[in-house]
Parts: sequence; C-alpha cells; structure tokens
Amino acid sequence: SNLKMYFPIYTGLLRRHTGDVKAVDDVSFTIRAGETLGLVGESGCGKSTVGRAILRLYEPTAGRVVIDGDDIPALAPEALRKKRPVMQMVFQDPQASLNPRMTVADIIGEPLDEHTNLTGQEKLARIYELMDQVGLNRAFANRYPFAFSGGQRQRIGIARALALNPRFIVCDEPIAALDVSIQAQVVNLLEDLQDRLGLTYLFISHDLSMVRHIADRVAVMYLGQIAEISPRDDLYANPLHPYAEALLSAVPEPDPNGAARQRIILKGDVPSPANPPKGCNFCTRCPKVMPVCREIEPKLAEAAPGRMVACHLINPIPSTG
Ligand code: SF4
Ligand code: MG
Repeated sequence: SNLKMYFPIYTGLLRRHTGDVKAVDDVSFTIRAGETLGLVGESGCGKSTVGRAILRLYEPTAGRVVIDGDDIPALAPEALRKKRPVMQMVFQDPQASLNPRMTVADIIGEPLDEHTNLTGQEKLARIYELMDQVGLNRAFANRYPFAFSGGQRQRIGIARALALNPRFIVCDEPIAALDVSIQAQVVNLLEDLQDRLGLTYLFISHDLSMVRHIADRVAVMYLGQIAEISPRDDLYANPLHPYAEALLSAVPEPDPNGAARQRIILKGDVPSPANPPKGCNFCTRCPKVMPVCREIEPKLAEAAPGRMVACHLINPIPSTG
C-alpha cells in the first residue's frame, strides 16, 4: 500500500541533495494467495524496483507491504530474517545471480545452511528433492554453473528459491535472458510448481504474450505508477487506460479472425522519473489528454468490477458546479 521507492540525487562538490528519482511513486495492489499477478511496462518503469522493495532487497522510502499479516518494511532485522523463507525471488539473469565458484549443490544448499539445522544427510536429500522438482539431473549436483545451459541455470535459480518452502515468489523477468525455444519450458515449470506447491507469484515481465499466458490479473506500470490493474482477459480484450491500450496494441491477436487491433504509436519519450509531469504522469504522451490531466493527478479507482484504473477519462472527477 502506498509503496514509494525514491533514490536521492546528490549534486556538486558538496553533494547536496537536489532531488529524487521517483522509481516507484505511490503504488498499491493486492495479490491473492495462489494467484499470479503480472506486472508489465516498458523497461525503466519501476517494475523491478517494486519487486525488490516488496522483498526489502531495497529499503522502501514509504509504504506498507503486508505478507501474511506482517508488514515487511517495519520488521526488525531478526524478525525479517525469520520471514525471509516465506518470500523469495527468481532473478532475470541466471548467469549473473549464480556464484560461478559454487557447485549446484552448494548454491541450492546455501539457504538451507542459513535458515535450517539439517544434518549433512538431510540437507543432501533436500537438495536432491529440489533438483527433482525443477527437472535437474541429480548426477550434476557437483558441477559448476558454467557447465549448464541458460535454461538449466534458471532451474538452479528456481530450486534455490524453493529451498525454504516459500509461499510467495517474485519472478523478475525470469525468462528474458533465455532463448525463445526454452522460455516456454521455464514458464511451464513455474506454473507446474505453483500448482503443486501452492505458490503465489508476482510475475514481472515486458513480454506481454507470456504474461497473458501465465497471469490471472495484470498490473500495467508507467513511470513509477500503476495505470491499470485488471483481470487478464479483461485487460487483453479491452484495456481501459490509454497507456495500457497503447502498450497492448503491439501484442499480436491470437485469433486470426478477430478484428485487427490498430497499433498505437506513442509520440515522445518517457519523462525522467526525477522530474515527472504535473497531473497525470502520462499527460505528455497520452493521445486522449484533456486540460484537467495536466493539473490533477488521477488516482487508481475502480472503473468496472475488479478493474482499477488511474485516468480522468475513465473515472471522471465529479463536477462541483
Ligand atoms: Fe490520458 Fe488524461 Fe487519462 Fe492521463 S488522465 S491517461 S492524460 S486521459
Ligand atoms: Mg527490470
């Protein structure tokens, strides 16, 4: 709720604090147990920062992140350490997130060392179980990451994330660094694990076709804020926010007989998150901009059952006259 992640800007020899990069600026949403919430938007819109702030890999500037009753940003260090097993992350680049000097067994076993008192035998049994779950051959337990393909490395990263029986996993572009031919395999594995283990996902991606495949609901981000959150089918069939409409106009229609969508090309660049426009943050590029949009910031509000949209066109300000 009201999550903010500002990165301070310091300038000059005296390193004066002259402003903030508002990477995440007042973001609120709910994820229900067992569902997948897709988080989409162009690179730089703040979606990865949301994922990291939720898991407190960054210290949020403001806001609440309640997971199973605990407000994560408010937890003291020891309470946060105890909570860690519940919430895990699968990173974008398995190459960069795996220590090249550790064997697969050491990588998957590291969280077990930190958070459990398993004996050597119990730990090895758990490592093997995790390797089975993600489809890695147990015979490879003593190999190093370089010996694996990109897809296999991502399976190692997923096994590590599963080691402590999490309930909630932030998947940050988990397939973006993989060959197209194996992206579907990794996504299918994530879906399969979700069913078997009752996992809840925040699935961050700029791949709108993949999100359509995996997500139950989708949040669309632009310039540090949420433009729309809707059930997946509603969003893809009929995006309400003008930015969501433009973003989704680039997605190919799966139904070849369906009406062809008109591709909407946005003019101009995304403004700097250090200096977002007054009013609606999309007003500098919105094809439907109105005078009010440059003055008053639209708040995310219910536009239809289950659909939240931040736009004056969709949720007009009640006239006071
Ligand atoms: Fe466009 Fe105005 Fe809606 Fe913003 S509030 S998305 S500028 S119509
Ligand atoms: Mg990112």
